Amino acid sequence: MSRRFASARESLSVLDMFKIGVGPSSSHTLGPWRAAQRFVAELDLERELKSLRVCLYGSLAKTGKGHGTDLAIMMGLTGADPVSFPTDRLAETVKAIRQQKEIRLNDEVLLSFDPESCLLFCPAESLPEHPNGMRFEVQYKDGDEYQAVYFSIGGGFVSRQDELGVSAVDFVELPYPINTAADLTRWCRETGLSIAGVVEKNELAWRDASETRRAVLKIWQTMYECLYRGCHTDGELPGDLQVTRRAPAFNRRLLDNDLDYTIETWRDAIRNSGTGFSHALDWLSCFALAVNEENAAFGRVVTAPTNGAAGVIPAVLWYLLVFEQEQPDDDVIMQFLLTASEIGCLFKKRATISAAMGGCQAEIGVSSAMAAAGLTACRGGSVDQVTMAAEIAMEHHLGLTCDPVGGLVQIPCIERNAMGAVKAVTASQLALFGDPAKAKVSLDAVISTMWQTAADMSDKYKETSEAGLAVNIPISLSEC
Ligand code: SF4
Repeated sequence: MSRRFASARESLSVLDMFKIGVGPSSSHTLGPWRAAQRFVAELDLERELKSLRVCLYGSLAKTGKGHGTDLAIMMGLTGADPVSFPTDRLAETVKAIRQQKEIRLNDEVLLSFDPESCLLFCPAESLPEHPNGMRFEVQYKDGDEYQAVYFSIGGGFVSRQDELGVSAVDFVELPYPINTAADLTRWCRETGLSIAGVVEKNELAWRDASETRRAVLKIWQTMYECLYRGCHTDGELPGDLQVTRRAPAFNRRLLDNDLDYTIETWRDAIRNSGTGFSHALDWLSCFALAVNEENAAFGRVVTAPTNGAAGVIPAVLWYLLVFEQEQPDDDVIMQFLLTASEIGCLFKKRATISAAMGGCQAEIGVSSAMAAAGLTACRGGSVDQVTMAAEIAMEHHLGLTCDPVGGLVQIPCIERNAMGAVKAVTASQLALFGDPAKAKVSLDAVISTMWQTAADMSDKYKETSEAGLAVNIPISLSEC
């Protein structure tokens, strides 16, 4: 594996870990979208352009069609913002580019652009630095040329070729620098703060506390709207697999009646719909499926820490708010998401959150660890129990491969979110009943193990659709 641990001086904010975007993939959709936006921003659009060409390499080329990478590149070139562009206009925008064979760069300059010949998938080639490489090239009419290579390094993060090896985000001096779980627990011990409390102090290096609170609650609002939409949108997911959305049917069956409710009163309907632990677990799965069905349908989602794994954290947090809280409380939401984000940062810094680097353990495994930590903190667990819950959740995802059927983020991805959510709840329960002083495996040890496992894993199992389920069920990539 050509890559290393992230810079020991990397500083990551909660808003780096949770990013609002568009499905279905943070590395194959959101990252390329951002890369295309960056490339256009680097161009001199005052000068007349002659041509533009984009080449996709490695994993981006192998599964990019199913992941909507071509769509994302075109949208990024137009300058559209993945945070706010209406998702119901994506298909028509891209269709127009294909039909007219021209694109308006940054919504300013019209340029001839036929995706068939100007947006190339090169699956036989991989750039040495990272499996998710993209090359952008333009020619100006005066004969000058300009090109840039970017890498989508997971979770929607993008690095230009000359930035690899340094942090994908600007370095910020933090009051409590954290690179390992041991650092995190030491700061908590020294300050008497919870994990969320330490994160809150660090976030002040980027913005004031009220701005962070507003932004994190907006993250939750976006997660919740996605979850609700997913539970109330019937139909078939895009792509050749013809997968039927299941969350709406689950929602109807679990409610067991024709209730009249709104997005504001759905929680009461769920709470009144039945009792018992297994009923709550049924809902947990329903919530996770809902988010990832929306993700697969190019809906608006939040990376958590990736799009493929976007369902685990909203499902576990909504499960907590519905079944374990008298009323949804913004302080609980803040504690959950700040705690979860710090755990995700540890994996990003010491291992990876990219399936193209580490398989599905880097996506669903990390999201499950993040959710387990957030849940345990909100349930009153000690700092050591919180890190123990994260460790347990990851320990039981080690070695999980990435083998999306047909290159689509649907099978096994959607169900995998339900499994990750269930494991997060179980990990939290084990940690709360456990004694961290007697734990044999630390969170730092499991993060190192995840990274070593990633290094040993065959590239076939890293988001290429060249092995595993992708080649062993009737509809394989070659037929899609
Ligand atoms: S198998 Fe896992 S890592 Fe791979 S695309 Fe699906 S959710 Fe992402």
